[in-house]
Amino acid sequence: MRTATANLHNPINNNQSNTFFKALIAHAQASGFIYPSSEIYDGLQAVYDYGPYGVALKRNVQNFWWQSMTQLNQNIVGIDTAIMMHPTTWQASGHIDGFTDPMVDNRDSQKRYRVDLLLEAHAAQLVEQKKGTQAKALIAEMESCLQTANLSGLDQLLQSFAIVCPLSKTANWTPVRQFNLMFSTQVGAQNDATTIYLRPETAQGIFVNFLNVQKTVRMKIPFGIAQIGKAFRNEIIARQFTFRMREFEQMEMQFFIQPGTEKEWFDYWKENRQAWYNTLGISNEKINIHPHKQLAHYAAAAVDIEYAFPFGFKEVEGIHSRTDFDLSNHEQYAKKKLQYFDPEWKKSYTPYVIETSAGLDRLVLMLLSNAFIQEKEGKEGHKARTYLKLPFPLAPVKAAIFPLVKKDGLEAKALELFDQLKYDFPLMYEATSSIGKRYARQDLIGTPYCITVDHQTLEDATVTIRERDDMVQNRMAIADIVNFLHSTTSIKSLLLQLRK
Ligand code: ATP
Repeated sequence: MRTATANLHNPINNNQSNTFFKALIAHAQASGFIYPSSEIYDGLQAVYDYGPYGVALKRNVQNFWWQSMTQLNQNIVGIDTAIMMHPTTWQASGHIDGFTDPMVDNRDSQKRYRVDLLLEAHAAQLVEQKKGTQAKALIAEMESCLQTANLSGLDQLLQSFAIVCPLSKTANWTPVRQFNLMFSTQVGAQNDATTIYLRPETAQGIFVNFLNVQKTVRMKIPFGIAQIGKAFRNEIIARQFTFRMREFEQMEMQFFIQPGTEKEWFDYWKENRQAWYNTLGISNEKINIHPHKQLAHYAAAAVDIEYAFPFGFKEVEGIHSRTDFDLSNHEQYAKKKLQYFDPEWKKSYTPYVIETSAGLDRLVLMLLSNAFIQEKEGKEGHKARTYLKLPFPLAPVKAAIFPLVKKDGLEAKALELFDQLKYDFPLMYEATSSIGKRYARQDLIGTPYCITVDHQTLEDATVTIRERDDMVQNRMAIADIVNFLHSTTSIKSLLLQLRK
Protein backbone atom coordinates (compact mmCIF):
# COMPACT_ATOMS: atom_id res chain seq x y z
CA MET A 1 0.00 0.00 0.00
CA ARG A 2 1.10 3.51 -0.71
CA THR A 3 3.36 5.41 1.63
CA ALA A 4 5.61 8.32 0.82
CA THR A 5 8.98 7.00 -0.19
CA ALA A 6 10.64 10.20 -1.17
CA ASN A 7 14.26 9.88 -2.08
CA LEU A 8 16.79 12.33 -3.29
CA HIS A 9 19.04 10.06 -5.26
CA ASN A 10 16.70 10.06 -8.25
CA PRO A 11 18.47 11.10 -11.40
CA ILE A 12 16.91 14.41 -12.37
CA ASN A 13 14.91 14.38 -15.59
CA ASN A 14 16.96 15.73 -18.38
CA ASN A 15 16.27 16.28 -22.03
CA GLN A 16 18.13 13.19 -23.14
CA SER A 17 16.11 10.83 -20.96
CA ASN A 18 12.88 12.63 -21.89
CA THR A 19 13.65 12.12 -25.55
CA PHE A 20 14.54 8.49 -24.91
CA PHE A 21 11.29 7.90 -23.00
CA LYS A 22 9.18 9.54 -25.72
CA ALA A 23 10.87 7.36 -28.33
CA LEU A 24 10.23 4.27 -26.20
CA ILE A 25 6.51 5.07 -25.83
CA ALA A 26 6.23 5.66 -29.58
CA HIS A 27 8.05 2.39 -30.23
CA ALA A 28 5.85 0.43 -27.81
CA GLN A 29 2.78 1.62 -29.68
CA ALA A 30 4.09 1.44 -33.26
CA SER A 31 5.50 -2.06 -32.80
CA GLY A 32 2.37 -3.63 -31.31
CA PHE A 33 3.27 -3.74 -27.60
CA ILE A 34 1.07 -1.18 -25.83
CA TYR A 35 -1.81 1.01 -27.05
CA PRO A 36 -3.82 3.69 -25.22
CA SER A 37 -7.13 2.13 -24.15
CA SER A 38 -10.15 2.87 -26.38
CA GLU A 39 -7.90 5.01 -28.54
CA ILE A 40 -10.54 5.67 -31.22
CA TYR A 41 -12.35 7.71 -28.54
CA ASP A 42 -9.10 9.52 -27.68
CA GLY A 43 -8.21 7.07 -24.94
CA LEU A 44 -8.99 6.81 -21.24
CA GLN A 45 -6.39 8.39 -18.99
CA ALA A 46 -4.04 5.96 -17.23
CA VAL A 47 -5.59 2.89 -18.86
CA TYR A 48 -3.74 0.92 -21.52
CA ASP A 49 -4.20 -2.13 -23.75
CA TYR A 50 -1.51 -4.66 -24.63
CA GLY A 51 -1.02 -5.51 -28.30
CA PRO A 52 0.08 -8.89 -29.71
CA TYR A 53 3.74 -8.55 -28.69
CA GLY A 54 2.95 -6.76 -25.43
CA VAL A 55 0.67 -9.53 -24.22
CA ALA A 56 3.24 -12.17 -25.16
CA LEU A 57 5.98 -10.31 -23.26
CA LYS A 58 3.67 -9.83 -20.26
CA ARG A 59 2.67 -13.52 -20.19
CA ASN A 60 6.34 -14.54 -20.33
CA VAL A 61 7.17 -12.34 -17.33
CA GLN A 62 4.10 -13.71 -15.54
CA ASN A 63 5.11 -17.30 -16.26
CA PHE A 64 8.65 -16.74 -15.08
CA TRP A 65 7.42 -15.20 -11.82
CA TRP A 66 4.76 -17.88 -11.31
CA GLN A 67 7.13 -20.74 -11.95
CA SER A 68 9.92 -19.25 -9.87
CA MET A 69 7.47 -18.97 -6.97
CA THR A 70 5.25 -22.03 -7.21
CA GLN A 71 7.42 -24.51 -9.10
CA LEU A 72 10.82 -23.90 -7.54
CA ASN A 73 9.44 -23.75 -3.99
CA GLN A 74 7.61 -26.78 -2.65
CA ASN A 75 6.13 -24.59 0.07
CA ILE A 76 4.55 -21.94 -2.19
CA VAL A 77 1.19 -22.58 -3.86
CA GLY A 78 -0.91 -20.49 -6.22
CA ILE A 79 -4.43 -19.10 -5.97
CA ASP A 80 -6.76 -17.00 -8.13
CA THR A 81 -9.31 -15.01 -6.16
CA ALA A 82 -12.14 -12.72 -7.31
CA ILE A 83 -11.73 -9.02 -7.99
CA MET A 84 -14.96 -8.31 -6.10
CA MET A 85 -14.81 -9.11 -2.40
CA HIS A 86 -17.07 -8.68 0.62
CA PRO A 87 -16.91 -4.95 1.47
CA THR A 88 -15.90 -5.63 5.08
CA THR A 89 -12.62 -6.96 3.71
CA TRP A 90 -11.59 -3.38 3.05
CA GLN A 91 -12.54 -2.21 6.50
CA ALA A 92 -10.43 -4.95 8.03
CA SER A 93 -7.49 -4.23 5.73
CA GLY A 94 -7.57 -0.52 6.57
CA HIS A 95 -8.21 0.56 2.96
CA ILE A 96 -11.51 2.32 3.65
CA ASP A 97 -9.93 4.62 6.22
CA GLY A 98 -6.31 4.62 5.22
CA PHE A 99 -5.92 4.14 1.45
CA THR A 100 -5.75 7.80 0.64
CA ASP A 101 -3.50 10.31 -1.01
CA PRO A 102 -3.24 13.95 0.10
CA MET A 103 -4.39 16.00 -2.87
CA VAL A 104 -4.56 19.69 -3.65
CA ASP A 105 -6.32 21.60 -6.45
CA ASN A 106 -5.01 24.68 -8.17
CA ARG A 107 -7.95 27.07 -8.50
CA ASP A 108 -6.58 28.72 -11.64
CA SER A 109 -5.68 25.67 -13.75
CA GLN A 110 -8.41 23.50 -12.16
CA LYS A 111 -5.82 20.71 -11.97
CA ARG A 112 -5.51 18.31 -9.06
CA TYR A 113 -2.13 17.15 -7.73
CA ARG A 114 -0.77 14.64 -5.24
CA VAL A 115 0.95 16.85 -2.71
CA ASP A 116 3.83 14.46 -2.01
CA LEU A 117 4.67 14.34 -5.73
CA LEU A 118 4.57 18.14 -6.03
CA LEU A 119 6.89 18.46 -3.04
CA GLU A 120 9.22 15.73 -4.29
CA ALA A 121 9.47 17.41 -7.70
CA HIS A 122 10.33 20.68 -5.97
CA ALA A 123 12.98 18.94 -3.84
CA ALA A 124 14.50 17.48 -7.01
CA GLN A 125 14.68 21.00 -8.51
CA LEU A 126 16.42 22.22 -5.35
CA VAL A 127 19.00 19.43 -5.69
CA GLU A 128 19.56 20.48 -9.29
CA GLN A 129 20.17 24.07 -8.08
CA LYS A 130 22.73 22.68 -5.58
CA LYS A 131 20.43 23.45 -2.64
CA GLY A 132 20.60 19.94 -1.24
CA THR A 133 20.22 20.99 2.40
CA GLN A 134 16.93 22.77 1.68
CA ALA A 135 15.74 19.77 -0.33
CA LYS A 136 16.53 17.41 2.55
CA ALA A 137 14.69 19.67 5.00
CA LEU A 138 11.66 19.77 2.71
CA ILE A 139 11.52 15.98 2.38
CA ALA A 140 12.03 15.45 6.12
CA GLU A 141 9.22 17.87 6.95
CA MET A 142 6.95 16.31 4.31
CA GLU A 143 7.58 12.81 5.68
CA SER A 144 6.75 13.92 9.17
CA CYS A 145 3.49 15.58 7.99
CA LEU A 146 2.50 12.46 6.03
CA GLN A 147 3.26 10.23 8.96
CA THR A 148 1.04 12.23 11.30
CA ALA A 149 -1.62 13.01 8.63
CA ASN A 150 -0.89 16.69 9.23
CA LEU A 151 -2.67 18.23 6.25
CA SER A 152 -2.28 21.84 7.37
CA GLY A 153 1.47 21.17 7.70
CA LEU A 154 1.43 20.19 4.01
CA ASP A 155 -0.48 23.42 3.20
CA GLN A 156 2.27 25.36 4.94
CA LEU A 157 5.01 23.56 3.06
CA LEU A 158 3.39 24.47 -0.27
CA GLN A 159 3.33 28.10 0.87
CA SER A 160 6.72 28.39 2.51
CA PHE A 161 8.51 26.84 -0.49
CA ALA A 162 6.38 28.99 -2.86
CA ILE A 163 5.39 25.98 -4.92
CA VAL A 164 3.36 26.85 -7.99
CA CYS A 165 1.16 24.85 -10.35
CA PRO A 166 3.23 23.73 -13.35
CA LEU A 167 0.37 24.83 -15.65
CA SER A 168 -1.01 28.10 -14.25
CA LYS A 169 2.26 29.02 -12.51
CA THR A 170 0.22 30.34 -9.56
CA ALA A 171 0.14 29.27 -5.91
CA ASN A 172 -3.66 29.63 -5.70
CA TRP A 173 -4.17 26.28 -3.92
CA THR A 174 -7.21 24.80 -2.18
CA PRO A 175 -6.56 23.30 1.27
CA VAL A 176 -4.95 19.83 1.09
CA ARG A 177 -7.52 16.99 1.36
CA GLN A 178 -7.35 13.21 1.56
CA PHE A 179 -8.80 11.23 -1.39
CA ASN A 180 -9.56 7.52 -1.24
CA LEU A 181 -8.12 5.61 -4.18
CA MET A 182 -10.62 2.75 -4.31
CA PHE A 183 -13.20 2.49 -7.10
CA SER A 184 -16.65 1.66 -5.78
CA THR A 185 -19.59 0.08 -7.56
CA GLN A 186 -22.99 -1.41 -6.68
CA VAL A 187 -24.04 -5.03 -6.62
CA GLY A 188 -27.64 -6.21 -6.46
CA ALA A 189 -30.97 -4.63 -7.41
CA GLN A 190 -30.88 -0.83 -7.40
CA ASN A 191 -33.12 -0.25 -4.37
CA ASP A 192 -31.32 -2.92 -2.38
CA ALA A 193 -27.78 -2.47 -3.66
CA THR A 194 -24.60 -2.87 -1.66
CA THR A 195 -21.53 -0.77 -2.30
CA ILE A 196 -18.48 -2.86 -3.04
CA TYR A 197 -14.99 -1.98 -4.22
CA LEU A 198 -12.77 -3.15 -7.04
CA ARG A 199 -9.80 -4.60 -5.18
CA PRO A 200 -6.89 -2.15 -4.88
CA GLU A 201 -4.47 -5.04 -4.24
CA THR A 202 -4.59 -8.81 -4.69
CA ALA A 203 -3.15 -9.52 -1.23
CA GLN A 204 -6.48 -9.51 0.64
CA GLY A 205 -7.80 -12.37 -1.52
CA ILE A 206 -4.88 -14.39 -0.16
CA PHE A 207 -5.46 -13.42 3.47
CA VAL A 208 -9.17 -14.28 3.48
CA ASN A 209 -8.29 -17.68 1.98
CA PHE A 210 -5.43 -18.39 4.35
CA LEU A 211 -7.25 -21.19 6.20
CA ASN A 212 -8.89 -22.64 3.06
CA VAL A 213 -5.49 -23.13 1.49
CA GLN A 214 -3.65 -24.18 4.63
CA LYS A 215 -6.22 -26.85 5.50
CA THR A 216 -7.14 -28.18 2.04
CA VAL A 217 -3.59 -28.36 0.73
CA ARG A 218 -2.16 -29.26 4.16
CA MET A 219 0.49 -26.56 4.16
CA LYS A 220 2.95 -26.29 7.04
CA ILE A 221 4.45 -23.01 8.18
CA PRO A 222 6.57 -21.48 6.70
CA PHE A 223 4.58 -21.46 3.47
CA GLY A 224 3.52 -18.97 0.82
CA ILE A 225 0.48 -18.26 -1.35
CA ALA A 226 1.07 -16.56 -4.69
CA GLN A 227 -1.43 -14.74 -6.87
CA ILE A 228 -1.38 -12.80 -10.13
CA GLY A 229 -4.32 -10.56 -10.91
CA LYS A 230 -5.81 -7.20 -11.69
CA ALA A 231 -5.95 -4.39 -9.15
CA PHE A 232 -7.60 -0.98 -9.50
CA ARG A 233 -6.69 2.41 -8.06
CA ASN A 234 -8.21 5.76 -8.86
CA GLU A 235 -4.82 7.37 -9.41
CA ILE A 236 -5.20 11.10 -9.77
CA ILE A 237 -1.78 11.78 -11.15
CA ALA A 238 -1.56 9.66 -14.24
CA ARG A 239 1.76 10.18 -15.93
CA GLN A 240 4.75 8.19 -17.09
CA PHE A 241 2.86 5.84 -19.41
CA THR A 242 2.18 2.42 -17.87
CA PHE A 243 4.11 3.22 -14.70
CA ARG A 244 0.98 4.53 -12.97
CA MET A 245 -2.25 3.02 -14.22
CA ARG A 246 -5.80 2.90 -12.90
CA GLU A 247 -6.21 -0.75 -13.88
CA PHE A 248 -3.06 -2.82 -13.52
CA GLU A 249 -1.79 -6.25 -12.62
CA GLN A 250 0.02 -7.35 -9.48
CA MET A 251 2.08 -10.44 -8.74
CA GLU A 252 1.94 -10.91 -5.00
CA MET A 253 3.15 -13.60 -2.64
CA GLN A 254 2.30 -13.72 1.05
CA PHE A 255 4.68 -15.87 3.06
CA PHE A 256 3.25 -17.09 6.40
CA ILE A 257 5.80 -17.55 9.17
CA GLN A 258 6.26 -18.13 12.89
CA PRO A 259 6.17 -14.85 14.87
CA GLY A 260 9.73 -13.93 15.78
CA THR A 261 11.22 -15.17 12.47
CA GLU A 262 10.20 -12.08 10.49
CA LYS A 263 13.65 -10.45 10.29
CA GLU A 264 15.26 -13.59 8.90
CA TRP A 265 12.51 -14.13 6.30
CA PHE A 266 12.38 -10.44 5.35
CA ASP A 267 16.12 -10.56 4.56
CA TYR A 268 15.68 -13.86 2.72
CA TRP A 269 12.99 -12.49 0.40
CA LYS A 270 14.86 -9.22 -0.16
CA GLU A 271 17.86 -11.17 -1.43
CA ASN A 272 15.80 -13.71 -3.34
CA ARG A 273 13.86 -11.03 -5.21
CA GLN A 274 16.96 -9.04 -6.08
CA ALA A 275 18.50 -12.18 -7.61
CA TRP A 276 15.32 -12.61 -9.68
CA TYR A 277 15.86 -9.16 -11.21
CA ASN A 278 19.48 -10.00 -11.97
CA THR A 279 18.38 -13.02 -14.04
CA LEU A 280 16.34 -10.61 -16.15
CA GLY A 281 19.57 -8.89 -17.09
CA ILE A 282 18.96 -5.96 -14.74
CA SER A 283 22.34 -5.08 -13.30
CA ASN A 284 22.73 -4.01 -9.69
CA GLU A 285 23.60 -0.44 -10.77
CA LYS A 286 20.12 -0.16 -12.21
CA ILE A 287 18.45 -1.43 -9.05
CA ASN A 288 18.10 0.46 -5.82
CA ILE A 289 16.85 -1.11 -2.62
CA HIS A 290 15.08 1.71 -0.90
CA PRO A 291 14.08 1.22 2.74
CA HIS A 292 10.88 2.98 3.84
CA LYS A 293 11.27 5.45 6.65
CA GLN A 294 7.55 6.07 6.85
CA LEU A 295 5.80 2.71 7.11
CA ALA A 296 2.30 1.84 5.92
CA HIS A 297 -0.15 1.12 8.73
CA TYR A 298 0.40 -2.64 8.47
CA ALA A 299 4.18 -2.79 8.12
CA ALA A 300 7.00 -3.45 10.58
CA ALA A 301 9.67 -3.09 7.89
CA ALA A 302 9.51 -2.37 4.18
CA VAL A 303 11.78 -1.86 1.20
CA ASP A 304 11.06 -0.91 -2.38
CA ILE A 305 12.98 -2.45 -5.23
CA GLU A 306 13.47 0.48 -7.57
CA TYR A 307 14.58 0.44 -11.19
CA ALA A 308 16.42 3.28 -12.94
CA PHE A 309 13.62 4.33 -15.30
CA PRO A 310 14.33 7.18 -17.73
CA PHE A 311 12.40 9.39 -15.26
CA GLY A 312 14.44 8.30 -12.22
CA PHE A 313 14.68 5.41 -9.76
CA LYS A 314 11.09 4.27 -9.14
CA GLU A 315 9.44 1.37 -7.38
CA VAL A 316 8.70 -1.85 -9.26
CA GLU A 317 8.21 -4.09 -6.24
CA GLY A 318 7.62 -3.73 -2.52
CA ILE A 319 8.75 -6.19 0.14
CA HIS A 320 6.87 -5.76 3.39
CA SER A 321 7.02 -7.35 6.79
CA ARG A 322 3.28 -7.20 7.59
CA THR A 323 3.33 -8.81 11.06
CA ASP A 324 -0.07 -10.45 11.85
CA PHE A 325 -1.84 -7.19 10.98
CA ASP A 326 -4.04 -8.54 8.19
CA LEU A 327 -4.93 -11.93 9.61
CA SER A 328 -5.75 -10.60 13.07
CA ASN A 329 -7.88 -7.79 11.66
CA HIS A 330 -9.82 -10.30 9.55
CA GLU A 331 -10.22 -12.44 12.67
CA GLN A 332 -11.68 -9.45 14.47
CA TYR A 333 -14.04 -8.31 11.69
CA ALA A 334 -15.14 -11.80 10.60
CA LYS A 335 -15.25 -13.09 14.19
CA LYS A 336 -13.47 -16.24 13.04
CA LYS A 337 -10.12 -17.63 14.08
CA LEU A 338 -7.47 -17.57 11.35
CA GLN A 339 -4.88 -19.49 13.32
CA TYR A 340 -2.41 -22.22 12.66
CA PHE A 341 -1.64 -25.11 14.99
CA ASP A 342 2.13 -25.43 14.96
CA PRO A 343 3.20 -29.03 15.57
CA GLU A 344 6.68 -27.80 16.48
CA TRP A 345 5.50 -25.28 19.06
CA LYS A 346 2.49 -27.43 20.03
CA LYS A 347 0.22 -24.40 20.10
CA SER A 348 -1.91 -22.25 17.84
CA TYR A 349 -1.08 -18.70 16.75
CA THR A 350 -1.88 -16.11 14.11
CA PRO A 351 1.05 -16.28 11.67
CA TYR A 352 3.20 -13.34 10.70
CA VAL A 353 3.58 -12.46 7.02
CA ILE A 354 6.31 -11.32 4.65
CA GLU A 355 4.90 -10.00 1.39
CA THR A 356 6.55 -9.58 -2.00
CA SER A 357 4.40 -7.39 -4.22
CA ALA A 358 5.45 -6.64 -7.80
CA GLY A 359 3.62 -4.69 -10.50
CA LEU A 360 3.51 -6.67 -13.72
CA ASP A 361 2.93 -3.63 -15.91
CA ARG A 362 5.84 -1.82 -14.26
CA LEU A 363 8.03 -4.86 -14.89
CA VAL A 364 7.07 -4.83 -18.57
CA LEU A 365 7.90 -1.10 -18.73
CA MET A 366 11.18 -1.78 -16.92
CA LEU A 367 12.08 -4.51 -19.40
CA LEU A 368 11.20 -2.34 -22.38
CA SER A 369 13.23 0.58 -20.97
CA ASN A 370 16.16 -1.71 -20.33
CA ALA A 371 15.96 -3.32 -23.77
CA PHE A 372 15.31 -0.38 -26.09
CA ILE A 373 18.49 0.34 -28.03
CA GLN A 374 18.89 2.92 -30.75
CA GLU A 375 22.26 2.23 -32.33
CA LYS A 376 23.83 4.91 -34.44
CA GLU A 377 25.27 4.31 -37.87
CA GLY A 378 28.90 3.35 -38.20
CA LYS A 379 29.29 1.22 -35.11
CA GLU A 380 31.64 -1.57 -36.22
CA GLY A 381 30.60 -0.87 -39.80
CA HIS A 382 26.93 -1.54 -39.13
CA LYS A 383 23.96 0.50 -40.28
CA ALA A 384 21.88 2.36 -37.72
CA ARG A 385 19.35 0.07 -36.12
CA THR A 386 16.76 0.02 -33.36
CA TYR A 387 16.27 -3.19 -31.46
CA LEU A 388 14.87 -4.62 -28.26
CA LYS A 389 17.51 -6.44 -26.30
CA LEU A 390 15.01 -8.44 -24.26
CA PRO A 391 16.16 -11.55 -22.39
CA PHE A 392 15.65 -14.31 -24.98
CA PRO A 393 13.17 -16.32 -22.87
CA LEU A 394 10.92 -13.27 -22.50
CA ALA A 395 10.91 -12.27 -26.18
CA PRO A 396 7.39 -12.41 -27.69
CA VAL A 397 8.62 -14.37 -30.73
CA LYS A 398 11.49 -16.81 -30.26
CA ALA A 399 12.47 -17.26 -33.89
CA ALA A 400 11.46 -15.98 -37.33
CA ILE A 401 11.66 -18.30 -40.30
CA PHE A 402 12.44 -16.95 -43.73
CA PRO A 403 12.87 -18.56 -47.14
CA LEU A 404 15.75 -16.71 -48.83
CA VAL A 405 13.53 -16.43 -51.92
CA LYS A 406 10.01 -17.67 -52.52
CA LYS A 407 10.92 -19.84 -55.49
CA ASP A 408 13.02 -23.00 -56.06
CA GLY A 409 11.14 -24.94 -53.39
CA LEU A 410 12.59 -22.78 -50.58
CA GLU A 411 9.19 -21.55 -49.44
CA ALA A 412 7.85 -25.08 -49.05
CA LYS A 413 10.95 -26.08 -47.08
CA ALA A 414 10.68 -23.03 -44.81
CA LEU A 415 6.99 -23.71 -44.14
CA GLU A 416 7.85 -27.32 -43.34
CA LEU A 417 10.39 -26.09 -40.77
CA PHE A 418 7.82 -23.68 -39.36
CA ASP A 419 5.31 -26.53 -38.94
CA GLN A 420 7.93 -28.66 -37.27
CA LEU A 421 8.92 -25.99 -34.70
CA LYS A 422 5.57 -24.34 -33.97
CA TYR A 423 4.61 -26.92 -31.33
CA ASP A 424 7.55 -25.82 -29.16
CA PHE A 425 7.96 -22.10 -29.81
CA PRO A 426 6.06 -18.94 -30.78
CA LEU A 427 7.39 -18.22 -34.29
CA MET A 428 6.89 -15.86 -37.18
CA TYR A 429 7.06 -16.72 -40.83
CA GLU A 430 7.96 -14.03 -43.36
CA ALA A 431 8.63 -14.44 -47.04
CA THR A 432 8.43 -10.94 -48.49
CA SER A 433 10.96 -8.10 -48.84
CA SER A 434 14.74 -8.31 -48.53
CA ILE A 435 16.38 -10.39 -45.80
CA GLY A 436 17.84 -7.18 -44.33
CA LYS A 437 14.37 -5.64 -43.95
CA ARG A 438 13.03 -8.85 -42.45
CA TYR A 439 15.88 -8.86 -39.87
CA ALA A 440 15.16 -5.22 -39.04
CA ARG A 441 11.46 -5.92 -38.41
CA GLN A 442 12.31 -8.77 -36.03
CA ASP A 443 14.88 -6.59 -34.22
CA LEU A 444 12.12 -4.08 -33.44
CA ILE A 445 10.19 -6.68 -31.44
CA GLY A 446 13.28 -8.35 -29.95
CA THR A 447 13.16 -11.73 -31.72
CA PRO A 448 16.35 -13.56 -30.67
CA TYR A 449 16.86 -15.64 -33.83
CA CYS A 450 16.14 -15.39 -37.53
CA ILE A 451 16.42 -18.67 -39.41
CA THR A 452 16.87 -18.56 -43.17
CA VAL A 453 16.24 -21.46 -45.50
CA ASP A 454 18.45 -21.16 -48.60
CA HIS A 455 19.57 -23.32 -51.52
CA GLN A 456 22.14 -25.14 -49.40
CA THR A 457 19.30 -26.23 -47.07
CA LEU A 458 17.90 -28.41 -49.85
CA GLU A 459 21.27 -30.14 -50.20
CA ASP A 460 22.45 -30.67 -46.62
CA ALA A 461 19.49 -29.89 -44.30
CA THR A 462 21.25 -26.92 -42.66
CA VAL A 463 20.01 -23.33 -42.28
CA THR A 464 21.58 -20.00 -41.33
CA ILE A 465 20.67 -18.77 -37.89
CA ARG A 466 21.25 -15.09 -37.13
CA GLU A 467 21.45 -13.85 -33.56
CA ARG A 468 19.75 -10.56 -32.68
CA ASP A 469 22.44 -8.88 -30.55
CA ASP A 470 25.72 -9.65 -32.30
CA MET A 471 24.02 -10.17 -35.70
CA VAL A 472 26.37 -13.09 -36.38
CA GLN A 473 25.08 -15.76 -38.75
CA ASN A 474 26.00 -19.41 -38.33
CA ARG A 475 24.98 -22.56 -40.11
CA MET A 476 23.14 -25.12 -38.08
CA ALA A 477 21.68 -28.53 -38.84
CA ILE A 478 17.86 -28.44 -38.81
CA ALA A 479 17.99 -31.48 -36.53
CA ASP A 480 19.74 -29.41 -33.82
CA ILE A 481 17.39 -26.42 -33.81
CA VAL A 482 14.77 -27.61 -31.33
CA ASN A 483 17.34 -28.36 -28.63
CA PHE A 484 19.24 -25.17 -29.36
CA LEU A 485 16.15 -22.97 -29.05
CA HIS A 486 15.04 -24.75 -25.89
CA SER A 487 18.40 -24.21 -24.23
CA THR A 488 18.52 -20.50 -25.09
CA THR A 489 14.92 -19.27 -25.13
CA SER A 490 12.97 -21.31 -22.59
CA ILE A 491 11.70 -20.04 -19.24
CA LYS A 492 13.58 -23.05 -17.84
CA SER A 493 16.87 -21.44 -18.87
CA LEU A 494 15.97 -18.44 -16.67
CA LEU A 495 14.82 -20.65 -13.80
CA LEU A 496 18.14 -22.48 -13.89
CA GLN A 497 19.94 -19.17 -13.37
CA LEU A 498 18.14 -18.79 -10.07
CA ARG A 499 19.97 -21.83 -8.70
CA LYS A 500 22.40 -20.76 -6.05
P1 ATP B 1 3.49 3.90 -5.66
O1 ATP B 1 4.00 4.53 -4.40
O2 ATP B 1 4.44 3.99 -6.80
O3 ATP B 1 2.11 4.33 -6.03
P2 ATP B 1 2.72 1.71 -4.01
O4 ATP B 1 3.72 1.79 -2.90
O5 ATP B 1 1.37 2.28 -3.79
O6 ATP B 1 3.35 2.32 -5.36
P3 ATP B 1 2.14 -1.04 -3.57
O7 ATP B 1 0.83 -0.77 -2.93
O8 ATP B 1 3.27 -1.49 -2.71
O9 ATP B 1 2.59 0.21 -4.46
O10 ATP B 1 1.87 -2.07 -4.74
C1 ATP B 1 2.80 -3.06 -5.12
C2 ATP B 1 3.24 -2.89 -6.55
O11 ATP B 1 2.11 -2.71 -7.42
C3 ATP B 1 4.10 -1.67 -6.78
O12 ATP B 1 5.45 -1.95 -6.49
C4 ATP B 1 3.91 -1.42 -8.26
O13 ATP B 1 4.80 -2.21 -9.03
C5 ATP B 1 2.49 -1.89 -8.51
N1 ATP B 1 1.59 -0.73 -8.61
C6 ATP B 1 1.05 -0.03 -7.59
N2 ATP B 1 0.28 0.96 -8.07
C7 ATP B 1 0.35 0.88 -9.42
C8 ATP B 1 -0.24 1.63 -10.49
N3 ATP B 1 -1.07 2.63 -10.25
N4 ATP B 1 0.05 1.28 -11.76
C9 ATP B 1 0.88 0.23 -12.03
N5 ATP B 1 1.45 -0.51 -11.06
C10 ATP B 1 1.19 -0.20 -9.78
